[in-house]
Amino acid sequence: MDNLRDLPNSDGFFGNYGGKFVPETLMFALKELEDTYDQLKSDPDFLKQIDQDLCHFVGRPSPLYFADRLTKHYDGPNIWLKREDLNHTGAHKINNTVGQILLAKAMGKKRIIAETGAGQHGVATATVAARLGLECHIYMGAADVQRQSLNVYRIKLLGAEVHAVDSGTATLKDALNEAMRDWVTNIDDTYYIIGSVTGPHPYPMIVRDFNSIVGRELRDQSIEHFNAFPEAIIACVGGGSNAMGIFYPFVSDPEVQLIGVEAAGSGIETGKHAAPLNDGHPGILHGAKSYLMQDENGQVIDTHSVSAGLDYPGVGPEHSNLKDSGRAIYLAVNDKEALDAFHMVTRLEGIMPALETAHAFAALDHLSGKFNKKDNIVINVSGRGDKDINTVATMDGISLD
Ligand SMILES: *Cc1c(COP(=O)(O)O)cnc(C)c1O
Repeated sequence: MDNLRDLPNSDGFFGNYGGKFVPETLMFALKELEDTYDQLKSDPDFLKQIDQDLCHFVGRPSPLYFADRLTKHYDGPNIWLKREDLNHTGAHKINNTVGQILLAKAMGKKRIIAETGAGQHGVATATVAARLGLECHIYMGAADVQRQSLNVYRIKLLGAEVHAVDSGTATLKDALNEAMRDWVTNIDDTYYIIGSVTGPHPYPMIVRDFNSIVGRELRDQSIEHFNAFPEAIIACVGGGSNAMGIFYPFVSDPEVQLIGVEAAGSGIETGKHAAPLNDGHPGILHGAKSYLMQDENGQVIDTHSVSAGLDYPGVGPEHSNLKDSGRAIYLAVNDKEALDAFHMVTRLEGIMPALETAHAFAALDHLSGKFNKKDNIVINVSGRGDKDINTVATMDGISLD
């Protein structure tokens, strides 16, 4: 077996997954990005700039926090929280956009584009573009523009332009297609910031590397707090960037169990979910090969999750390889379990997690009895729940109008 930490290979494959399945016109842009990144990832000045921005702009390092009442509630292992919810803009996504905007600047690009579903990646991108004074365009499905009006307004306040995409189901996958189209047309002056460990090589690697600050901090913090690495790390998986960021620095430490949690939506058995690793098949979407939700004719099928950030039919290729190799396992948690976990964590810890993150917390119910009381397990709190209050109220049958 390949050494998992040394992937992707030079063609951008993680085992059978990944690669660059894109039109010829994009091959040049991807190669330019790959070459620049190759050079800069060991450039001390570039790395120093990223460190400074993560510290002074994002507010890193994020704490490793002991969840006392949650631990008592389960009466099992010690539960620790890696607090990405405390980052500027409220989630892990800023770790990636801070890194990629510096890549764009180093490449002399003047125009930034990005796709967004719920709007979180759009906000994180518009934020770093504002800071560097770069022109910024965000592609968003027209249905999502309606549903996520607050994030649309945030993006506009930050000086970026929002382009509503009407094609297809007018959601994230259509926004992605449109952003790709823009990139092909404006390749000379435009940098495309992809928001998860998805898309063609080298994006899955770049987004993983920029998010890996989370796992690197955790290595030091776990030694500091409990003088060992954790028995297990649990993270929710949409495209998979928060999970890859915390998993990757531990991939070569087999004593650390890596547990991803997908969205089971209305239940895996109903087919209305967003869990390609649990109930999908390998296929090609958005430039890479990976597990994917598709019908018997290979058509991508509509997904469902209460959590907009997990509502995507594909998943990053590195997760597909971690699954096949057995190095990570992937559970699935349904809407109701996630909502219950949201309420429980909010009441027990005074921490309101994002609905995405609530899926990782809900996995604790699936894992009871699997760990000893002296064990330490870490949940990646990928983001805070302020953005989800309206959804939670609706699900609880409460009207806020
Ligand atoms: C976007 C988002 C996710 C899902 O994206 P990944 O790439 O799988 O991490 C999870 N949690 C939060 C808070 C998000 O904003």
